Amino acid sequence: MLMASYPARGMSETVTHDALRDRYRPLVGGETVPGHGEPYTSRNPATEEPLVDVEMGDESDIDHAVADAVAASEDWWRQEPQNRGRVLTDLAGAVREHSDRLARLVTLENGKPLSQAESEVEGCARYFEYYAGLADKVQGESIPLGPDHVDFTVREPLGVTAHIVPWNYPLDLFARSVAPALATGNAAVVKPAEYTPATALEVGTLALEAGVPPGVLNVVPGYGSGAGAALAGHPDVDGVSFTGSVATGREVAKQAVDNINPVHLELGGKSPSVVFPDADLENAIRNTVAGIFVATTGQICLASSRLLLHEDIYEEALDHLVAATEALSVGPGMEDPDVGPLVSEPQFEKVKRYLHAGEAAAGAPLVGGETLDRAGYFVEPTVFEVDDRDARVAQEEIFGPVLSVLSFADEEEAIELANDVDYGLVAGVFTSDVGRAHRFARDLKAGQIYINEWAAGGKGSPFGGYKQSGFGRDKGLEGLDNYTQVKTVSANITV
Ligand code: NAD
Repeated sequence: MLMASYPARGMSETVTHDALRDRYRPLVGGETVPGHGEPYTSRNPATEEPLVDVEMGDESDIDHAVADAVAASEDWWRQEPQNRGRVLTDLAGAVREHSDRLARLVTLENGKPLSQAESEVEGCARYFEYYAGLADKVQGESIPLGPDHVDFTVREPLGVTAHIVPWNYPLDLFARSVAPALATGNAAVVKPAEYTPATALEVGTLALEAGVPPGVLNVVPGYGSGAGAALAGHPDVDGVSFTGSVATGREVAKQAVDNINPVHLELGGKSPSVVFPDADLENAIRNTVAGIFVATTGQICLASSRLLLHEDIYEEALDHLVAATEALSVGPGMEDPDVGPLVSEPQFEKVKRYLHAGEAAAGAPLVGGETLDRAGYFVEPTVFEVDDRDARVAQEEIFGPVLSVLSFADEEEAIELANDVDYGLVAGVFTSDVGRAHRFARDLKAGQIYINEWAAGGKGSPFGGYKQSGFGRDKGLEGLDNYTQVKTVSANITV
């Protein structure tokens, strides 16, 4: 058992890794410290029972965390880059060492099935590993200005970066932005989502043990309107990475712009899965069902939430869809079903409102439509056949296990329908016609395009949105751009 002890300022606390702690507190400057915000008790979404008490940070705790990050950032940047890489590699190892416990925490807080939580923890480790390998490869360029000049660029860290993350992939999204920020020499302040602070705090503790210096990675649980807003608009923050809803992203961007800070927004989606008669139908339906129902119960930004079927295979595809959907098991994440509960009561209520809106617009669902008669925030995987493409269930991000099915007659109509939403995060096409697949890749307005699969991209595949789904790209080499700035050095060598 790994045991680390971090005396809090004015208090002492022992942090063990073999069980959920009784209480979670902000991790600032390498220590757990009291949170001054209104305390929060998280709930197990599978039972609605209280899970853990969290001391939430407020504006003063954000001030404290940013000040410690400012103090730590210069030394971290001045380290040999390969040393930063080594530390992040060790952190990846520590995450793997504690993967069972971290996965259980993800499931307890978020509700997702345990095997998905295990994949998420591995994804978190992979991000640290991937960006560890890039730490000493953040290179500049040499610009030819003729024999009398030397002109080159260097990529420098921003300084202190803010990371505001949602609850749907609490570890994956934490690591997706923190790993490149630390690899490039920034000091980070992270505000996890209200419902899921524990895992980020746990990984923050593991980071210290792996050798990330105190103050380089600070984690402050807190409410969006308090700690979140204070972090997004903090004058000593040098860059903001936000993942969440469009409405909050807009607010965060305004705050960052007031400070003339770069901001990077990863927002929502309403992504089309387009199926042609020449597709492997079983493969298309299996991928779509996984993308809207199985992956975190539809609470995933890249959910395949609109299924567009060619009219010639419409009925046959629906038969497959109904069979595949009805075969899904729904239950507590700890029992590792196909589909877990929604994360929280507000999310449960929101999805129920969409079920009513769907029935009003499209009639009774083809499958599902009910909540489970038990404690917990369980909703049946639900399919609506939608004629009106402007219906709310066909246009708005529901963030739950609700699929809208529409039909099209030809390629032109499919492209038009696929692009006819405010979002543009991802899109998929299922066809055996290579030319058609690439015409879709060309014409779909989305940041990632899938051909005959859904969501296969690895850590190296840039990810981010067109239109209201955001701007900037996470993952891959592009992910480094969010956390670095370019300096040009020009020398006259004749003097
Ligand atoms: P949200 O916008 O409500 O909250 C996201 C984070 O912002 C939370 O930590 C929250 O506390 C914080 N926040 C809230 N108000 C704030 C404010 N005024 N200032 C600063 N921070 C504030 O989103 P959510 O409901 O937690 O997450 C779901 C959304 O996230 C969906 O729209 C989903 O598509 C999107 N998402 C996008 C991606 C992506 O990579 N594009 C990934 C996951 C989730």
